Amino acid sequence: LRRKKQNISTLQKDVLKGNKTALSRAITLIESQQQKHTANANKLIEGCLPYANKSIRIGITGVPGVGKSTFIEAFGNFLIQQGKKVAVLAVDPTSSVSHGSILGDKTRMEELVKQENAFIRPTASGNSLGGVAQKTRETIILCEAAGYDVILIETVGVGQSETVVHSMTDFFLLLKLAGAGDELQGIKRGIMEMADAIVINKADGENKKAAMRAKIEFRRALHFYPLKENQWQPKVKTCSALHQKGIDKIWEMILTYEKLTKNNTYFYKNRQEQNKFWMLQSIDEQLKLNFYSKPNIKIALQEQLKAIEENKTTPFKAAKHLLDLARE
Ligand code: GDP
Repeated sequence: LRRKKQNISTLQKDVLKGNKTALSRAITLIESQQQKHTANANKLIEGCLPYANKSIRIGITGVPGVGKSTFIEAFGNFLIQQGKKVAVLAVDPTSSVSHGSILGDKTRMEELVKQENAFIRPTASGNSLGGVAQKTRETIILCEAAGYDVILIETVGVGQSETVVHSMTDFFLLLKLAGAGDELQGIKRGIMEMADAIVINKADGENKKAAMRAKIEFRRALHFYPLKENQWQPKVKTCSALHQKGIDKIWEMILTYEKLTKNNTYFYKNRQEQNKFWMLQSIDEQLKLNFYSKPNIKIALQEQLKAIEENKTTPFKAAKHLLDLARE
């Protein structure tokens, strides 16, 4: 990016070869908010697209402290031992607010970082979740083109971030902790419907018994949900990310899911539906970006906001005025 003229086809070739430095540079390019990079970024993504898709995309969520990074470290290392290439991405809606994200901390996943066959990228920053999400989608494509065959996408359960990650992954995994008593309390609405698996982490030491009880309770609860369109009955597992116990069973489960949904074609259909959704989202994002980046709109917007404050206009009149102005 520092060079004046970026040779996109060279960059693309290096990405396809699996060169990590090139991949990082490619992601930085697509994440750039500068308009002058847009054409090159689009060219790069288009060029990589035919080489993407040959992966399994796994979404991982859970509250801070549940053990997401410990789990990803253990799971990632296990997958690498199985001969996989693993990319770890994150969707952190708080990154634009806090300027250092909850998920982006460098001390996390110490072992995985060192692996030749792992690629870890902190969350994209952006002004909106929609913006972050789109960059993550594009980053998935670049990683797949670079030969990563398992893409892990981590998120925290803030706002809509789980829905967003769910809509870009093949398999959605919810990490939980066993608490005392009613396990189903404090579970976010809608998350049970999204989860393909609930994994109760920290099933070790004194926690083990509680984890087993929680497993039974979650299984019972999931039983009441109708079978999903993909014919998959969501599973409940326990694991100890810290002691690397139960990790192999989780991968086995995901492979079973992949086999089932590829056989009944849901896997492909779901990706198509996701692509359609993301096309519409991209249009939304682009329209908004075009609108708000117009110099005359920037000025007029401030004027209209002030006019609303002073009760000199209505929100609808102001909106119409601005939209008309953008068309000129
Ligand atoms: P995150 O915020 O969800 O990414 O959680 P972390 O991976 O940072 O883990 C939070 C804390 O829980 C750390 O102190 C971990 O060592 C600990 N932890 C993570 N997984 C396990 C586990 O399986 N068993 C136990 N006993 N502790 C764990």
